[in-house]
Amino acid sequence: MLNIVLFGPPGAGKGTQSEKLIAKYGIIHLSTGDIFRANIKGGTELGNLAKSFMDQGKLVPDEVTINMLNAEVEKYESPKGFIFDGFPRTAAQASALDVLLQSKDTEISHMLALEVPEDELRQRLLLRGKDSGRPDDINPEIIQKRIDVYNSKTELVKVYYEKQGKYKGINGVGEIETIFELLCQAIDTNLVMK
Ligand code: AMP
Repeated sequence: MLNIVLFGPPGAGKGTQSEKLIAKYGIIHLSTGDIFRANIKGGTELGNLAKSFMDQGKLVPDEVTINMLNAEVEKYESPKGFIFDGFPRTAAQASALDVLLQSKDTEISHMLALEVPEDELRQRLLLRGKDSGRPDDINPEIIQKRIDVYNSKTELVKVYYEKQGKYKGINGVGEIETIFELLCQAIDTNLVMK
């Protein structure tokens, strides 16, 4: 399987690049943010719980997020692989993902981190909020909170994958197509598939 963690702060372009990667590699896109938003739309219990954290720019608790992600992965019978977008965001989530994949006799192939300066992130998120109507993209204070949460809790996840020799930083500023090529090069070089 080809299992990619597409990593980066909010607004780094993970969703856009995931769409292109799934088309090229035929793997499944699992975005925890998208799954939470679908649950909010559907008015589920999980959605109501997630919303109370998302509206404040906070992370949904690990236990809730990990259980949801595990259940999503279990839905697919013989997948070619997955792109994990917006997950893991904490070290606990990263180690839970390793345990889950080990139970399927596979592992993360690459952790690709899109790097974008904070000023650019703030501009991109405000712009996205105008079109997407995502409540957490409209309010500058919530945007800043999400960037702060990324810096304080999520960035450390890089170290987790660095220790495994799987982390690669990718310049996330520039043309979508150029960034996509950089991602594909990283995937196609040192392709570790299990
Ligand atoms: P995203 O669409 O990835 O920007 O996520 C939107 C929001 O969903 C985040 O600000 C969090 O509140 C929540 N969320 C998404 N993924 C996770 C995760 N892996 N762990 C905790 N909260 C998450």
